[in-house]
Amino acid sequence: MKEGSGSDLIPITVAYGDGIGPEIMNATLHILREAGARIQPEVIEIGEQVYLRGVDTGIEPSAWDSVRRTRVFLKAPITTPQGGGYKSLNVSMRKALGLYANVRPSIAYAPFVPTLHPTMNVVIVRENEEDLYGGIEHRQTEQVYQCLKLITRPGSTKVIRYAFEYARAYQRKRVTCFVKDNIMKLTDGLFHRVFDEVAAEYPDIESDSWIVDIGAAKLAATPEMFDVIVMPNLYGDILSDVAAQISGSIGLGGSANIGESCAMFEAIHGSAPRMAGQNRANPSGLLLAAVMMLVHIGQGETAAQIHNAWLRTLEDGVHTPDIFQEGASTERVGTSEFAAAVAARLGQMPQVLAPVRYDAAPKIPVAVEPPAVAAMPANRQLVGVDVFLNWEGEGPAALGAALSAVPNTPWSLKVITNRGVKVWPNGFPETFCTDHWRCRFQAAGEAAVRPTDVLALLQQVVAAGFDVIKTENLYTFDGAPGFSAVHG
Ligand code: NAD
Repeated sequence: MKEGSGSDLIPITVAYGDGIGPEIMNATLHILREAGARIQPEVIEIGEQVYLRGVDTGIEPSAWDSVRRTRVFLKAPITTPQGGGYKSLNVSMRKALGLYANVRPSIAYAPFVPTLHPTMNVVIVRENEEDLYGGIEHRQTEQVYQCLKLITRPGSTKVIRYAFEYARAYQRKRVTCFVKDNIMKLTDGLFHRVFDEVAAEYPDIESDSWIVDIGAAKLAATPEMFDVIVMPNLYGDILSDVAAQISGSIGLGGSANIGESCAMFEAIHGSAPRMAGQNRANPSGLLLAAVMMLVHIGQGETAAQIHNAWLRTLEDGVHTPDIFQEGASTERVGTSEFAAAVAARLGQMPQVLAPVRYDAAPKIPVAVEPPAVAAMPANRQLVGVDVFLNWEGEGPAALGAALSAVPNTPWSLKVITNRGVKVWPNGFPETFCTDHWRCRFQAAGEAAVRPTDVLALLQQVVAAGFDVIKTENLYTFDGAPGFSAVHG
């Protein structure tokens, strides 16, 4: 056995997790040790037992200390106990450590792992901190609940720039953006605009964009047409699982969560509790995550050696039950035997599948603002306010009449919508209305409006007996509206 030794060992934090976690972590660390990876694992406990002790985040403060000290975390999957009150450890980790990019390669290993897409080789870079995953949700009325979708310029810039750096480091040709900016013109529109700006900084790499619905359909039907795809959090969450599944097996996928100062590496699958303790789980997802980790800490040569030995093991037909095929596979093995087979092939290269080489990890972008944007903050001006009401009266015409009668200088009631559809003035009687109304007031004349005018308006509206549940100020930025228009 080769052992990393001496002062060149890099401390990493390791969590064995729950369910199949300990088995696949043992298998992975065995291979890393045999390959001579220069790492010093520091073991922490996270997951089910920690949750059940009453720590609602699933991780003790001392474990946080280790991750923040080593800045590199190899994590096995955990089980989130059933029932309410437990926070997602993964979501907390990503947000607290600023792990803004989730990198998930989905690669076909045909003919050794069956797939309809034998040449598929796609890397999804998912934005990891924003979008609908902020956990900002509210019940506002009897009938209506909302979840806030936040897309920021710095958040988008970081992840998109990382996607281009990734493409450059791994000699990939194209980065594609998936968004839904035909509907969400401001939020997804910003992501798309930043994509175009960042793409212009990388003239050596092709770029294009798809609306996410048709993009997803193309990804599922003809994944070979994509190379690197970058997308906001929710689309990336869903489509990276789709991509992993159609590449052959979700059990083979590894992922990296990259931040400016920390990084976390894990399999994309969960803890598969029903399979736990049976030596049947495929450790490949965690092993490939560990390969990404070795590249990240500058041990690309060891990473390539492990990856190539793993490819050779697949080619030799030594397969765990999830990918075993009668006739095509040669040996059905358990988790630990699979690890031993990979370790025995260290130094060997694949014969059919393309061998890998890792020269350098992608650069981690730290400067997140294009200088031109940072230098010139926009001139922001208050021009109106959307007042949201919980109201169960006679319908839009009655609401419009009652609200228009409220003294509201310097405002003028422009429009009322229900679930975004214009219902006053001149709405259609066919439009279904809930108890949640958005009433848009804008400045009546030329005079600028001030925040105190918003407060005065709210006072009048509340005094007239209306149930105000929230407001959104309407601003222009350098004269351009920073709010969606109401059509109809
Ligand atoms: P899962 O991914 O754990 O398992 C789904 C199925 O996939 C399993 O029944 C099994 O048939 C197969 N599978 C998964 N990993 C495999 C492997 N390595 N080898 C062979 N087959 C494998 O998903 P689930 O059952 O929905 O979730 C189980 C638990 O895992 C839940 O508590 C969930 O919250 C948790 N989870 C954790 C993470 C994480 O820690 N990153 C991610 C997803 C789910």
